[in-house]
This record gives sequence, C-alpha cells and structure tokens, in this order.
Amino acid sequence: MTEWTNWSGLETAHPRRVVEPADTAAIIAEVERARAERTTLKMVGTGHSFTAISAPEHTMLTPGGRRGIVAVDREAMTVTAHAGTPLSVLNSELERLGLSLHNMGDIDQQTLAGATSTGTHGSGGHAAGLAAQLAGLELVTGTGEVLRASADENPDVFAVARVGLGALGVLTTLTFQVEPLFVLEAHEQPMSWDAALEGFDQMSAESHHVDMYWFPHTDRVLLKRNDRLDVDLDEAEPLPRWRAALDDDLLSNRLFGALCAVGNAVPAAVPLINRVSSRALGARTYSDVPHRVFTTERRVVFREMEYAVPRAAGLSALREARAVLDASGLGVGFPVEVRTAPADDIALSTASGRDSLYVAFHVHRDAEHREYFALMEQVMRAHDGRPHWGKVHTRTAADLAPAYPRFEEFLAVRDRLDPDRVFANPYLRRVLGE
Ligand SMILES: Cc1cc2nc3c(=O)[nH]c(=O)nc-3n(C[C@H](O)[C@H](O)[C@H](O)COP(=O)(O)OP(=O)(O)OC[C@H]3O[C@@H](n4cnc5c(N)ncnc54)[C@H](O)[C@@H]3O)c2cc1C
Repeated sequence: MTEWTNWSGLETAHPRRVVEPADTAAIIAEVERARAERTTLKMVGTGHSFTAISAPEHTMLTPGGRRGIVAVDREAMTVTAHAGTPLSVLNSELERLGLSLHNMGDIDQQTLAGATSTGTHGSGGHAAGLAAQLAGLELVTGTGEVLRASADENPDVFAVARVGLGALGVLTTLTFQVEPLFVLEAHEQPMSWDAALEGFDQMSAESHHVDMYWFPHTDRVLLKRNDRLDVDLDEAEPLPRWRAALDDDLLSNRLFGALCAVGNAVPAAVPLINRVSSRALGARTYSDVPHRVFTTERRVVFREMEYAVPRAAGLSALREARAVLDASGLGVGFPVEVRTAPADDIALSTASGRDSLYVAFHVHRDAEHREYFALMEQVMRAHDGRPHWGKVHTRTAADLAPAYPRFEEFLAVRDRLDPDRVFANPYLRRVLGE
C-alpha cells in the first residue's frame, strides 16, 4: 500500500491509487472516473503543508515531470508555468530570462499550485502572498470542465481560486505577474525585544520587506530588512561562500539541529540554549538576486502554526503571546517569526481585505507542540486571527466563517465547481464543511 506523508512527518495517508497524469486530458479522465465511482481525488504538491490539506483518500495525483515555464509575455510582464513546478525551478528559469517574482516566503521547495492554494506568503512589499501575484490560472473542475480565470475571464472564479485550498479543481497552469530582475540587499541585525518592537512600524514603513525572529525566553530578536537597490546586477555583493556555509549550513542548520536535540533531551536547558542561538548569528549585509535573499535551506525538521492578525493589533497580540508563554512554564527552542502583508482581494487569503501581521510558532519535530500551539492559538483567536491553511491549527468551518467576510462566496463557487466533492478530504470537510 502506498503511504503519503508530509514534510514534517505529522500527517500520513494511504491512497488506493497513485496516478501521474501526462496531460490535461488525463486529469479530466481521472475526475470523470472519481465522479462515476463516487470516490475522491487529490493532486498533491511536495507535502510542505503541516496540515493534512493535501492528504489523499482514494486517488492521489502527482505533478510528476510537468514543470517549467510555458509562456512569457514581456508586454504584459506575465509568465505562465505548469502548476506543479517547484518554486526553485520557476525562480531559476525567471532569472535566466532576466525576470523575478515580486516577493516570496522562506523556502523554494514547494510547488507553485501548493504554495498559492494555501496562501503562502513572504513579508511586506505591495503583495506578500504568492497568490496575490497571480494574473491568471487554468483548472480542471470537479465536473471535468477546463476553466481559465483572470480579472477579465471568469472573474468570480479568479476571486476565490487563487487561494483555492485544492477544493475547487486541479490547477494545470498559473500565470504570475513578474518584474525585471532586481538586486535585493539584506541587512540582518540582532536587536533587543524592546528596540525591535518599538522600531517595528517605522522599519516596516522604510524597508521593502521586514522579517523578525524572537528567541523565546530571551530579550533577543534577529531582524532582517530587505531593500531593493537601484544598481546593476553585476554590482550585487553576495555573501562569500565561506560565510554562507558558516551561517546558513553550520549555524542555522547543523548547530541549530544539535542544540534542538539537547533542548529536547533537557528541557530546562532551553532558555540557555536560546540565549546561545540568538547570539550565534551576528549582523551581516549582502545583496543578490531576490530569490537567493528571500529563501534559505531548512534542514532541521519542525512543526509550525501561523496566524494572521489585523496589522494594527498585531504587536499587542505578539506581546500577549510572549506574556502567556512566559507564564506557562513551557520551554520553546524555536524562534517565533513575525512578518507583515498588505491587504489583498482574494476571498480566503489570510490577508483578505485587511493589512496583516503574521505570527508563526515552531517546535522541533521531536518536541511536543500541542500545548504550546493551543495556548498561542487562544491568544491569536482573541485578536481576530486567521490560521495559515497549510500550518497546524484546530479551527473548523463553523468558527472560520465569521473570520472571513467572503466565506460564503467561496462556498458558492465550490458548490458550482465541485458539486460532488471530488476534491474533498477530511481536512477540507473540517474547514469548509461537507
Ligand atoms: C520548511 C517550510 C517553510 C515554509 N515557509 C513558508 C513561508 O515562508 N510562508 C508561508 O506562507 N508558508 C510557508 N510554508 C508552508 C508552505 O508554503 C505551504 O504549506 C505550501 O502549501 C506547500 O506547498 P506544497 O507544494 O508542499 O503543497 P502541498 O502541501 O502538497 O499541498 C497544499 C495544497 O495545494 C493543493 N494542490 C497542490 N497541487 C495542486 C494543483 N495542481 N491543483 C490544485 N490544488 C493543488 C493540495 O491539494 C493541497 O490542498 C513552509 C513550509 C515548510 C515545510
């Protein structure tokens, strides 16, 4: 029997069939078969969601070799790619074309469809989410119809399907708005909690992208500010190879992994370990093409919950989270990450209709996450928080509906595009209803 498991190892499933469709006709055939048999179908990405959002029940479709850019429109500045393309492949192909996405998250291993469908985001910019950078998409619906959607074509579908949770169809291609390749300069700087929080709003206003990591049980914060430089590409100053290897390979992955193992074995040592970790990474400045500044390699496997709260209340939510964690007596060895996003116009995007602050809580794969995440989820819910669709949370359709003014709009399109629930799975039944 085939076993599907996600990156963090938190979710497993046992699909009865696994199919790698060669083309759109093969996807349509699978949809028709599932409909006739009254079974379900799930196209998976690379399994980087911490939730069971992509867990297949009956038939699992895999993206296979259908990857890469299929069309470039330099006038409209759009690029169309196969939906199952890994972000890393899109980034290198764009770089070769002298183009780039505007913004992205911390890693580049996910598929484009998986990342957009769950609302994957970076920080700041005029669009933080990958879905908010979409100009169009094509999908096979639950009735086997091929639909194209953009602001001009099926706009009602475009309004919801950019963050579609895999519930509306199998995406075949995605069209992104792109920009000429540019140079991004990163400033990474350790700071005190007070200085970072007091200066956060001003730094966010001044820099294009701000990313903050707080080390629990300490007063230490690592602040990353990324700014666009108005220079030629050959004037970029990437990190020397030895420095990248020391910081990103040894300190951020190998040493950090070893420290996590010590913390798991001796929880009382976690505050001391966090003080060491927070001082291991010093200040550094470098510049490079955007994807090499935005994304890094994550080899220490962890579990994560992330909430989006309204931007104006965001720092209060963060302060309260710290107070609750301090009072809990729990030892948490992973930093809390804080990012921002401007409001977007996608029905179930976590930034739908409101400027947002994201607060992300992590624990090592071998550490217990339930009690910590439950405490933090209470704080985030009290601040009108919306959980990331791809990260651990306990919310259900009944309590998500009030958090999203356009929830019903999404459900109405789902009823139309997937009336027989060909794309359902236990996670979608929980967060969207039957
Ligand atoms: C180490 C790590 C770092 C991360 N960093 C960030 C970050 O910086 N910012 C952030 O917001 N998130 C982040 N995430 C979360 C991650 O980006 C999302 O969970 C994303 O969905 C993973 O993409 P995937 O290809 O693994 O998709 P999967 O998790 O496999 O699938 C996600 C959803 O997409 C659907 N799907 C996949 N392909 C298709 C298709 N062709 N058509 C229709 N639906 C489809 C699946 O059915 C499922 O519903 C991170 C996760 C990890 C493990």
